[in-house]
Amino acid sequence: MKKGIFHCSTLAAAIILSGCNSSSSDDNNKIDYGAKAVSYLVEIADETQGIGAREASTQKEIQTGNWIYDKLTGFGYNVNVQPFSYERKGKTYFSNNYIVEKKGKVDKTIILAAHYDSTGVDHGSLGATDNGAGLAAAIAIAERLQQSELPFNVRILYPGAEENGLNGSLYYVKDALANDKLKNVIGMINYDTVGGGDIVYVHAAHSDYAEYKKTCESLGLTETDYSFDTKMREAMLKASVDVNGEANKYIIHPTFPGYPEGETGSWSDHAGFACAGIPIAYVEATNFNINGADGYDGYSQTTNPAMWDCYDADNKTACNRAEEKKWGKIWHTEFDRIDKLEEAFPGRVNTQLSDNVNIVLELLTSDKYIQVK
Ligand SMILES: [Zn+2]
Repeated sequence: MKKGIFHCSTLAAAIILSGCNSSSSDDNNKIDYGAKAVSYLVEIADETQGIGAREASTQKEIQTGNWIYDKLTGFGYNVNVQPFSYERKGKTYFSNNYIVEKKGKVDKTIILAAHYDSTGVDHGSLGATDNGAGLAAAIAIAERLQQSELPFNVRILYPGAEENGLNGSLYYVKDALANDKLKNVIGMINYDTVGGGDIVYVHAAHSDYAEYKKTCESLGLTETDYSFDTKMREAMLKASVDVNGEANKYIIHPTFPGYPEGETGSWSDHAGFACAGIPIAYVEATNFNINGADGYDGYSQTTNPAMWDCYDADNKTACNRAEEKKWGKIWHTEFDRIDKLEEAFPGRVNTQLSDNVNIVLELLTSDKYIQVK
């Protein structure tokens, strides 16, 4: 596609006459960016054809950062590399955030974030769904947006070191607040584990500030700064209906103890943004209908018997709650690999990944979902 555009621009005079521009955008519409995301997932999370596990502040995380940088630069973006450090158990660690922005017609900004680190290979995980899927989607989305006219600005953030304390995204928010980089930001989408689990959900922040208090205070923020506005969740839901139809739209999780319907805690990269007063939408693939180790809390991602010692389908829980070890979890386990997921759920991750890409592209390229005035 890049080749085609280059060709057009070298024939500047002919563009107007021949409609070269419109044929190039037709070509863009024909490219399946969902399928592109699937191939990026292989480059990220396949141990032999790609990078594999990408634990925070390791050489593999740096390698992934370089991969992101090269991809985005290749698409034509100016990539802002934001180095940061964080402390853990008295030691200092280093990582980078990567940030790109595409300007739109109205000077309001939506942020999409997808962390690029994974848990360590010692769990047997290669971080295919957590968060190879989110990263792959956010790379394919960046690629498509570079070719699009946007109704508002889109900033894509690839935070490092999420798994050991949301370090990249919290650093980003702190720095952005200090340098007035959030003033036009009207919404944020967090892509973390957007495939693999049985059902793809979209959440808003929690209506009880207590859930986010500790995170907000770490940023020097208080309850008056906090937002649990549901408008981004509702916008994503609407876009998902338009792209996928009622039957395959994003799902709002049911109420469970401590968590009202569609509300989530502060355990992923959306947290700092909610603290800073930005409406968030958090997409994750899991299964809130399972009575997991700690109840119906969405930590058990699947009813697939391969991911349980023994699953009791009638009661939607472990056959033996005292003895169950696996609990239907994919993230941070030996099952979070492309090969194991494909074996357990043929075609599922590819479909979920592709759907997520197309839903967010619809949301970000249309003025139908987000009120900018
Ligand atoms: Zn994650």
